[in-house]
Amino acid sequence: MTTDVPPDTLPGVSPSAPASDEAERLGPTGRPMPEFAEPAPVDRHGPAAVLAICNQKGGVGKTTTTINLGASLAEYGRRVLLVDVDPQGALSVGLGLNPMTFDLTVHDLLLRSDLNPADAVTKTNIDGLDLLPSNIDLSAAEVLLVSEVGREHALARALKPLLPNYDIVLIDCQPSLGLLTVNALSAADGVLVPLECEYFALRGVALLLQTIEKIHDRLNDRLELVGILATMHDGRTLHGRQVLDRVVEAFPDKVFHTVISRTVRFPETTAAGEPITSYAGSSAGAGAYRALARELLARWPAR
Ligand code: ADP
Ligand code: MG
Repeated sequence: MTTDVPPDTLPGVSPSAPASDEAERLGPTGRPMPEFAEPAPVDRHGPAAVLAICNQKGGVGKTTTTINLGASLAEYGRRVLLVDVDPQGALSVGLGLNPMTFDLTVHDLLLRSDLNPADAVTKTNIDGLDLLPSNIDLSAAEVLLVSEVGREHALARALKPLLPNYDIVLIDCQPSLGLLTVNALSAADGVLVPLECEYFALRGVALLLQTIEKIHDRLNDRLELVGILATMHDGRTLHGRQVLDRVVEAFPDKVFHTVISRTVRFPETTAAGEPITSYAGSSAGAGAYRALARELLARWPAR
């Protein structure tokens, strides 16, 4: 397992950049780049911290981040559970599993409290990485839940017995701020917001942050915004750099130093049904998600 990222494979850091101290220390976000050390191994596991990967916009890299951050955390010895809260079931597909083949899914756990949530967990091909899957049935759960008492806490209730077995739970949210996402945020300790680096990236973020604040105030006072992750960044174009500058200007302390570049390797990995860390383990994209895992563990020492 290679976990060292050579500096010239970090996104936005060009190997031919001037070798002055200043140029070496600035990261892709234009801020001084801290070193995120290899995380110390953990000798005992659990209880897990829960991180929701959330943005009501589709196609911003939520599912890609859930899979590849999860696989990177597993490489660092963490026990990781990925939870699919999107009826599209893309999380299963990205891990090479067919979402229609599962007997028990998140849908069942949300609607029935007599089930053992561990029975719905399935192993993936990656050591230390498990999955709680969903499929199209979940869209019915959203409708049925509306009339239930405690409807916002159904997911938290289902996850609770699983937390002692894991270090980190990552929830892949659906692209909406509906009841399923409210359930994800009510079950979470933190939120990671992926933002696609394009012209309208910041549209909708204010509404998302208001929603997070409301859920913090009314349903779950543990919830905090852990960070904003710039995804699909193109550091070679002026436009790409300007968009990232705007995001950093808007949220100076919240943007992760790690930035995920735009590369065709990610759609390729979805088709291959594997995380990039195993499909193209020495690629820049794999290095970037390992760097994100180190940064997350350093800045959010939940586990
Ligand atoms: P979401 O879950 O927010 O809808 P996805 O993670 O499914 O977004 O990503 C949407 C599409 O963009 C997918 O086809 C995915 O393979 C692709 N993608 C994700 N991240 C990148 C990236 N850094 N570079 C290029 N394509 C990406
Ligand atoms: Mg998705």
